Amino acid sequence: MALYRDEGVVLRTAKLGEADRIITLLTRSHGKVRAVAKGVRRSKSRFGGRLEPFMRADLLIAQGRSLDVISQAESLAAYAAPISADFEAYSAANVIAETADKLVAAENERTGAQYRLLVGALNALAKHAHAPRLISASYVMRALSLAGWTPRLSSCVVCGGTDAAFFSVPDGGAMCANDHTTQSHRVAQPTLCQLEALLNGDWAALQGVTEPLPETSRIVEDWAEYYLERPLRSLRIS
Ligand SMILES: [Zn+2]
Repeated sequence: MALYRDEGVVLRTAKLGEADRIITLLTRSHGKVRAVAKGVRRSKSRFGGRLEPFMRADLLIAQGRSLDVISQAESLAAYAAPISADFEAYSAANVIAETADKLVAAENERTGAQYRLLVGALNALAKHAHAPRLISASYVMRALSLAGWTPRLSSCVVCGGTDAAFFSVPDGGAMCANDHTTQSHRVAQPTLCQLEALLNGDWAALQGVTEPLPETSRIVEDWAEYYLERPLRSLRIS
């Protein structure tokens, strides 16, 4: 079997047979990879806890006919422990991992920029760099933007005027009173400003903010659901 080396972040795991797991990873150079970790559920597994969700590892993977097989895993960053110790960070990490999983649909799609964004978000969560729900909201907006779905926030999507007072997910962003469609709804200016800061990763503008405005959270959720074409389960329960 051909071997390849890459680094990856564990997005989720699923039981397989008696002692194995299928590990879904976002890798730096091979996109999304699903690979079997043999014996990982045994107490003396050679993988230890290195293939748990949110772990970042250097991997040696054997190409299989249907599923690849993880041959070696060395920990690069133990994000899992500090994230799992804090419920809000854990919830935010679930939103982030689910978004990455759903966004990168095709396996072996090249997604270097998505990988860097994912690592940055988990690193910020593990270090408690900002409020967890701001980190996950910012990640969702930036990841979708990288995929080509960037909302227009500072001006009307139709006329470009700066007096936007409505927001429409299907129309792609802010709208003025003259152009707004029936799919839009009224939006407050602070919400648009907060969305802009989250989209740009402008943490200076978010200083002192402990959680997104309710309207901001709703728009992030709707934006993700509409463009991913399915709801983010972990956002609904958080
Ligand atoms: Zn307009």
